[in-house]
Amino acid sequence: MLDKVVIANRGEIALRILRACKELGIKTVAAYAEADRDQKHVFLSDEAVCIGPASAIDSYLNIPAVISAAEVTDAVAIHPGYGFLSENADFAERVEQSGFIFIGPKAETIRLMGDKVSAIQAMKKAGIPCVPGSGGALGNDPVKLKNIAKEIGYPVIIKAAGGGGGRGMRVVHSEASLLKSITLTRTEAAATFGNDMVYMEKFLAHPRHVEIQIMADEHGHVICLGERDCSLQRRHQKVIEEAPAPGLDDATRKKIGERCVAACKKIAYRGAGTFEFLYEDGEFYFIEMNTRIQVEHPVTEMITGVDIVKEQLHIASGQPLHYKQSDITIRGHAIECRINAEDAETFMPSPGTIEHYHPPGGFGIRVDTHVYQGYKVPPHYDSMIGKLIAHAETRELALARLSMALSEILIDGIKTNIPLHQKLVKDTAFMKGGVDIHYLESKLGIK
Ligand code: ADP
Repeated sequence: MLDKVVIANRGEIALRILRACKELGIKTVAAYAEADRDQKHVFLSDEAVCIGPASAIDSYLNIPAVISAAEVTDAVAIHPGYGFLSENADFAERVEQSGFIFIGPKAETIRLMGDKVSAIQAMKKAGIPCVPGSGGALGNDPVKLKNIAKEIGYPVIIKAAGGGGGRGMRVVHSEASLLKSITLTRTEAAATFGNDMVYMEKFLAHPRHVEIQIMADEHGHVICLGERDCSLQRRHQKVIEEAPAPGLDDATRKKIGERCVAACKKIAYRGAGTFEFLYEDGEFYFIEMNTRIQVEHPVTEMITGVDIVKEQLHIASGQPLHYKQSDITIRGHAIECRINAEDAETFMPSPGTIEHYHPPGGFGIRVDTHVYQGYKVPPHYDSMIGKLIAHAETRELALARLSMALSEILIDGIKTNIPLHQKLVKDTAFMKGGVDIHYLESKLGIK
């Protein structure tokens, strides 16, 4: 097993990684920014190294600073968590070149999946169903471009190959605005992502976001841990996630899971990974692959009993997966609310000191958070301060438990989106299950 791991992240995921390491007897190093001196994982880790000032560019995104945290502490591996450097192929490469283990896939896999055009091409080749589209980067010939769109059928969506975070996309409803939209998206993509490559897809009208969790070791074993439905989104950011996806039958689940497992074997994938799909009229359409642990991993853990972060550590140490596919059974239903430090109506961030904190509890309730009474939420980072997860035998019971926990939780001193969650868990359409990706925004009156 690994001797000592650097946690190159902050917040709830840093604490989550720390707990998994402790359970496995692995020593931990918190690599933290100055503004995060008071983080729970910094107090609880065996060692802590300040890697720079508050601004992420100078700390959590500073590759030499993160690598030197491993050097000065004699650590053997680096866990990047999610966000920050977790999907940076250059970082993964430099970690390994410096003699450390990167807890994640190989750099070349991250690179392949980081470019959406190459990712789609690789997945298509590996038998994964993709959204009907250009199948590659768009050229400049107006006649050809119009023909591609006509063949796909309007509406279409123009997307940046290097895009992420829900940015770099434009929907086109008719030929009249096609060429202008392509040019605009290209210009924006060059400015935002430093890559002007764009591609075209059919714009699906009412899809759900359904994603498949897989885990792969270095010995050719790959398992699928089922799916998650993350359709409740605002500005392409997930708000509530659940597992399993409501209404998905076992045969469909098995078929898509097997395809993802086969694709992972084909590209010699390593570590935890998520295939993101749009799901419409019973069909799956691949949109991208995330090559890291995801925020919403706890819902999968609750229904499978598999500790995904511990498995990441096993894989990184060269061990085979501790589970076979036949060990994986889905038990009950789990739902997660992302708790953000923001106004529940305007979504304006609300950093500041948490004056009072009373977490909820009880059977089937899990709270993944780094906050505590007196903790000061800094203004420099993402506004998510924790996750509340409810697990029960059925979706109805999980919703009832979640609703109860949301009425118990108290976070005072800052604003949070808890009032929004309290409304959503009582929303008739959401309670029924299976709403599409546009549902939350239309409910909130956002076009
Ligand atoms: P990002 O990497 O920026 O998150 P994705 O390709 O994962 O980009 O797409 C983000 C979101 O944009 C999806 O969850 C979905 O809401 C919407 N989207 C992307 N492609 C399509 C499409 N072809 N049709 C309809 N909606 C889409």
